[in-house]
Amino acid sequence: MKKFTSYFLLLTSLIFFMCGKAQAQVYCEIDTLAAANQEILMEPYRTQSYSNYSFCVRIYVHVLRKSNHTGGQSPSDVSLALSYLDSAFNLHKIYFVWDYQIDYIDDDSKYFNPNAGIFNINNHTDGVDIYMYDDSVGFLGWDGYGTSSQLETAFLVSGFMEDPATNKTYPLVKSYILSHEMGHVLSLWHTHHGTGETTQQDPFECPELVNGSNAATCGDYITDTPADPNMDYDIDFATCQWLGSGLDANGDPYNPDEKNIMGYGVTPCMSYLTPKQGNRMKVAMTIIPVLTAVSNYTLSGYPCATAGLNYYPNAADDELNLDLRNKPINTYIFQIYDVYGVIVLSGESQNILKTIDTSGLNEGLYFLHFYENGQLTIKQLVVEH
Ligand SMILES: [Zn+2]
Repeated sequence: MKKFTSYFLLLTSLIFFMCGKAQAQVYCEIDTLAAANQEILMEPYRTQSYSNYSFCVRIYVHVLRKSNHTGGQSPSDVSLALSYLDSAFNLHKIYFVWDYQIDYIDDDSKYFNPNAGIFNINNHTDGVDIYMYDDSVGFLGWDGYGTSSQLETAFLVSGFMEDPATNKTYPLVKSYILSHEMGHVLSLWHTHHGTGETTQQDPFECPELVNGSNAATCGDYITDTPADPNMDYDIDFATCQWLGSGLDANGDPYNPDEKNIMGYGVTPCMSYLTPKQGNRMKVAMTIIPVLTAVSNYTLSGYPCATAGLNYYPNAADDELNLDLRNKPINTYIFQIYDVYGVIVLSGESQNILKTIDTSGLNEGLYFLHFYENGQLTIKQLVVEH
């Protein structure tokens, strides 16, 4: 499979250059266990609901640096990147536990050449291995790149995406691309699977119709995502509107969801996974052996052994509650950053239920930075008045 994908990548890159398409390109390949994916599509698995269950997925973080130990993602970059996982998955009661250790791989030949061969380096079978490359490192002429393998529960992300209208660049590690690749590992296909993409990894794939009549058995096999002919990143970064068009076999016009994380969308517009995508991942984590090995689940309480940071509500209005009552006796430091990286609020608290006044903050997206024993955790926070 790897041999095929390498050849395929080379071929697509050649086509890319031959076409001379000026637009920024991102490539994502997947290497999923087709047989296992099919298994969860069949009754009774497809209709099992785990909406009341909470799942915990163990993750390991690897950061690629140059041989002289420079470059790559900083510890706060890593924490910011992981906040995109929490933001996409926690809503579906899927949480992540990380040991706060970063495995640095300092090797120029690997640093400048992102590829799935990295999955052989310090890989774990009891967790999902995330290999984070530098924002500046593209792949074979592509600006950004992610690949994931359910066979090895590993993925990598590198490079950046560029808005062709403004030339503004968006790093992919610190974006929902991280969540996209995690989605593949946890058994999600692209929203354009079978419709705007044939993988040759799935013998059952077929085009999904706009009217939804075959949504359960074709396309991405998810019934609450609309048919997607492959948006191919052809989306206005400012309005998040797909700029393409097309008709399905019935002559109905496609209206794909530009904000779904599993589409070929642009990073400022990618926002969420649907409830049925969330449930499919949970089903997969109960029956696919390589996924049961990296996760656990429970009907009550928080599923991860290490207590997470509990804060609510999100979106916050005039108050944000930071619940530190389960933390050890200590003084904790918190900071709230806006999207421009400016600290707009900061303070410290004992291990109590701390109420933070957010009434003075403008509506929008913020990042809550929390320090515990010198370890920084970053969570995304929305303020709405
Ligand atoms: Zn993908």
